[in-house]
Amino acid sequence: MKYVSTRGQSDSVTAAEAILRGIAPDGGLYCPESIPAIGADFIAKLCNMDYNRRAAAVLSLFMEDFSEEQLLTEATAAYSTFDEYGVAPLAKLGDQCSIMELWHGPTCAFKDVALQMLPRLLRMSKEQLGVDEETCILVATSGDTGKAALEGFKDAPGVSVTVFYPNQGVSVVQRTQMVTQQGNNVHVAAVEGNFDDAQTGVKKIFGDRDFAEELASRGQKLSSANSINWGRLAPQIVYYFSAYADMVNSGSIRAGDKVNFCVPTGNFGDILAGWYAKAMGLPVNKLICASNANKVLTEFFETGTYNKNREFFKTGSPSMDILISSNMERMLYHVTGSATTVAELMAQLNTEGSYTLDNTSMEALRRDYAAGYADDATCAATIKEIFDTYSYVCDTHTAVAYAVYKDYVAQTGDETTTVVLSTASPFKFVGFVLSSLTGADNNNVSEFQLLRELSDVSGDRIPAPLRDLETRQVLHSTLCDKEDMKKTVNDFLER
Ligand SMILES: *Cc1c(COP(=O)(O)O)cnc(C)c1O
Repeated sequence: MKYVSTRGQSDSVTAAEAILRGIAPDGGLYCPESIPAIGADFIAKLCNMDYNRRAAAVLSLFMEDFSEEQLLTEATAAYSTFDEYGVAPLAKLGDQCSIMELWHGPTCAFKDVALQMLPRLLRMSKEQLGVDEETCILVATSGDTGKAALEGFKDAPGVSVTVFYPNQGVSVVQRTQMVTQQGNNVHVAAVEGNFDDAQTGVKKIFGDRDFAEELASRGQKLSSANSINWGRLAPQIVYYFSAYADMVNSGSIRAGDKVNFCVPTGNFGDILAGWYAKAMGLPVNKLICASNANKVLTEFFETGTYNKNREFFKTGSPSMDILISSNMERMLYHVTGSATTVAELMAQLNTEGSYTLDNTSMEALRRDYAAGYADDATCAATIKEIFDTYSYVCDTHTAVAYAVYKDYVAQTGDETTTVVLSTASPFKFVGFVLSSLTGADNNNVSEFQLLRELSDVSGDRIPAPLRDLETRQVLHSTLCDKEDMKKTVNDFLER
């Protein structure tokens, strides 16, 4: 299967090439030329498999360069870093709703599912293509991607990883996780600005041809671990299938029944992976796109206009504080079928900060998606409500999704069994979660103390990766202006 650029000005490539490049030379994102179709037999087969085998089965449909056996070996190694609950366990909240916990990996956020696998896919791609240059992974993070990329790529041969995080916009736990990262190939810098500043800066560096040449002369090449990389997105398709198979196995649904997935959304990568699963033939009714107060996507699905010209809110769910959802570009490509249209829309987004999609495409999108948002007050009330009702503590992003799911049910009366994706451990956003539960204002208490308090209140243990954070040595303290990001990268990479 070949991969094509959403902007139509680059040649089609194999999966290995798409993974190695990250972004297409014309600035577009690589999409599968056609989407593999599965039937009931495929799902029946998955029901008898463990997660690693499911991963190999789904990924091999998209990556003909690699054998299913090879993918199984890599998935098994990748997911051995997860705790005893596994990669995507389900917790039932009532008859109609399950929570899919995607945060049992080494950084306690769902990004581990993709980022434990991506370095392996990258290594396989380089071997397959006979490439021996140093791959320099460059990441802009709203908090969770950065740490997950650092953990995924640390000490990987032939790779270095540089992470930029917004100086205002990550939690203390998130920052501490990043600045204490060990490994012989890892670089971390804070950027004066918000996530979009960091992401825009990284995109600029990727588009800088002179810089690319300079790096090439040193045997180095930039690549991405953001969800613009196909190798990052593809592993996320797996858990939609896995949840479905688990629900069939537990009797929550019968094979063939439709389910909804409600997804706390930022860059539109996670929910787009669900769209690919649906397009392949997984029985999905609606993909519910949940946003926080930065409700660009909610308005887009409602009005057909994507408009990033608006106030930016810092919220209790910072990994969703995003005004430019990069992966929407892939969705636009699939729904319009026209790279010319996508190139035009992206140019408009770049110059005017907005674009409007035609009605036919919007109607098609609305058949697959519903959308809603919840502000911080609703998020807090939802965390408390879920705890009081089910003795279950969830994080802020998950609570936003659950609130949007409840609204959706109230508005539509849709009783389809729904899976809410839980994207982070509640301990990762401990300040907000704890004050939602107790009503106390925790502003002057250290987040590390709060971890212990949340453990007491919830009865859950602090996840191992967060337990001894406080005592780890700070190894990274670079701070740069958004104009100086290229220079910072160069300083890191110059040997
Ligand atoms: C990254 C992230 C999201 C958003 O996922 P996207 O793929 O960017 O839409 C939601 N919740 C958490 C905790 C995250 O880390």
